[in-house]
Amino acid sequence: MRGHPVYAAMGTTIFEHMSGLSRELGAINLGQGFPDGQGPPALLDAAARALREKSNQYPPMAGLPELRDAVAAFYSRRQRLNLTREQVIVTSGATEALAAAIFALVQPGDDVLIFQPAYDAYAPLIRRAGGVPVPIDLHPPAWRYERAAIIAAITPRTRAMILNDPLNPTGTVASAADLAMLAEICVAHDLVAICDEVWEEVRFDGVPHRSLIDFPGMASRAVKIGSAGKIFGLTGWKLGWMCAAPALASLMARAHQFLTFTSPPPLQWAVAEGLALPDDWFAAQAADWAAGRARLKQGLESAGFVVLPNAATWFLCIDLPRSGLAMDDQICCERAVREAGVAAIPVSAFFDGGVPGPILRLCFTKPADQLDSAVKRLSHFRQAQLSAG
Ligand code: PMP
Ligand code: GLN
Repeated sequence: MRGHPVYAAMGTTIFEHMSGLSRELGAINLGQGFPDGQGPPALLDAAARALREKSNQYPPMAGLPELRDAVAAFYSRRQRLNLTREQVIVTSGATEALAAAIFALVQPGDDVLIFQPAYDAYAPLIRRAGGVPVPIDLHPPAWRYERAAIIAAITPRTRAMILNDPLNPTGTVASAADLAMLAEICVAHDLVAICDEVWEEVRFDGVPHRSLIDFPGMASRAVKIGSAGKIFGLTGWKLGWMCAAPALASLMARAHQFLTFTSPPPLQWAVAEGLALPDDWFAAQAADWAAGRARLKQGLESAGFVVLPNAATWFLCIDLPRSGLAMDDQICCERAVREAGVAAIPVSAFFDGGVPGPILRLCFTKPADQLDSAVKRLSHFRQAQLSAG
């Protein structure tokens, strides 16, 4: 049996691969992004209560009305957006929202602009929809959006762009000027923007998140995607949503109804409660993540690694050559997990050609002792490479 060509030549994702190796070898897993621990007790209690007290049968296809309202209220409070329940469709994680948005909006032969580094799901989903991913390279260390490069990539077939802001894996954030420029391009060229904003609550620069959907002309042509997995550090829950103008939202809901149809109702109830937690609660959670970030950064820098500047996500990136490690990042990851017992993610995995140089991504939402041990191990690994010349 021949499979679909999009999948036939493909391995498992880099995240699955590195986590698998990490489990097998008993390594410290700073690869795939997830916080250690059980997760916020308020959310766990709410889910346990809902499991016992609420219905465990199919909820409405677009999501529990209470959760759709809670998402709209959350964005009104945190980002000053004016959304209604009709504009929110609950999905099984941001991944399903991406799939539904792409399947609903991309037709065979459409070009879709993506910015590299690009999250691994984008290109295969676009291709499976019959579209053509058109990568535009961003460059370290700022990873800025360059107008000329974007304009040069646009053709009469260009239908959409996917913007991931804040950006995984670099942890950088688009400036308000960049967002205004992207909005202007979308309007001028009649493009839909699929905005992957799963990292919106994981920012350490003190700047409130601003969505592309909030820029002039974008309300009718942007899809804003969020994930409870990232907002609450509960990645296994796989609960997310997509928000858009009512006509776009109902189109995407048609795609969603034949992907997963619905998501587990106890988790929907719990996330609805969680989104109503006070601002202080979110500040405390971000402060906890920021402490891990500072610890890993300081440890790595003391050990001689060059950490790239960033402002968001659960990740820090190391510039390998400037850290004295002149090796390919995929090879470095394969060796580090085996020889040092630390799993990381090679940033080149987010590129389809045009890799800017070997960079390693490390996740810092781990207990202090794990971060300290990981730094020690990576430091020994680095020293061994330097001595070997
Ligand atoms: N987009 C980006 C940029 C991500 O980093 C992730 C997960 N890390 C996802 C989408 C997927 O989110 P979810 O687990 O909610 O499907
Ligand atoms: N998005 C997560 C990361 O960047 C991984 C998600 C996955 O494993 N597919 O680490």
